[in-house]
Amino acid sequence: MSKPPVESSGAVAFGLLVALLLWESAAPFMAFFRGRLRERLGHDAINLCLGGINALFNATAAAALWMWTARVVSGASFGLLHWLELSRATEFVLAVLLLDLWMYWWHRLCHRIPMLWRFHRVHHSDPRMDVSTAYRFHFGEMAASAVVRVPVIAVMGLGLEHILLFEVMMFAVVQIQHANIGLPPTLDRVLRRLIVTPFMHKIHHSDLVAETDSNYCSLFSWWDRVFGTYRERADLAGIRFGLAEFQSAGEQKFAALILNPFAGSGSKNSVVKSVPKRNAPPPNENKI
Ligand SMILES: [Zn+2]
Repeated sequence: MSKPPVESSGAVAFGLLVALLLWESAAPFMAFFRGRLRERLGHDAINLCLGGINALFNATAAAALWMWTARVVSGASFGLLHWLELSRATEFVLAVLLLDLWMYWWHRLCHRIPMLWRFHRVHHSDPRMDVSTAYRFHFGEMAASAVVRVPVIAVMGLGLEHILLFEVMMFAVVQIQHANIGLPPTLDRVLRRLIVTPFMHKIHHSDLVAETDSNYCSLFSWWDRVFGTYRERADLAGIRFGLAEFQSAGEQKFAALILNPFAGSGSKNSVVKSVPKRNAPPPNENKI
């Protein structure tokens, strides 16, 4: 196996982060940081610190675990990609598609299972979503995601190079979809036929549970359409991000986010009760 270009994938992610930070500064979609540079810097620093821990883990322990699994299954000629004997290019396409499909269902499980939601809600509890929110994941969620990916790698017969390509593509789209930017509506509409756009993912970060539990896709947008969880809404600028029970400044501090999974109830319904009732359209309605 050739040496994976981990450094180049980090450079792609960092370059995109800088570009999106500049875009958010020049033309933010939501005005929550207007005239509040210090707040923005503090907010982004906390999210990027969480991301730094995760990047270190992914580049070391997770990569080692995935590489070990890939070597074992490759040595045993086990897994879908080994059995199908496809061309190299088709192998990569299929690997990216299957990993993206897996991430769709893993994301749904993170919303469905209370123990997983406790960790995933750290990502959702950001009331001011911007590109730094793409980095705001609890280490516990990253570790669980890395471990449950092991049998997926085995069954699919993936190599580390497949995973790396998927990670680079997915994280590029994940950064764009979280950014506090708005694409021209027509461009967003065309793009979201293929990938998850800022329009589509803003709805996933709404504080309304019916909207939070929709638009689960990470890279390609079509899994939500296939499995009936795709949702749009007309007044995108009216979305309130975050979770109602984690809105205070104290709950947004670094230590509080680390401890968040171990606080309160793991039920999402408890959040709903404290939110003033608003009419949420059912999936696939209220399209623009
Ligand atoms: Zn989510």
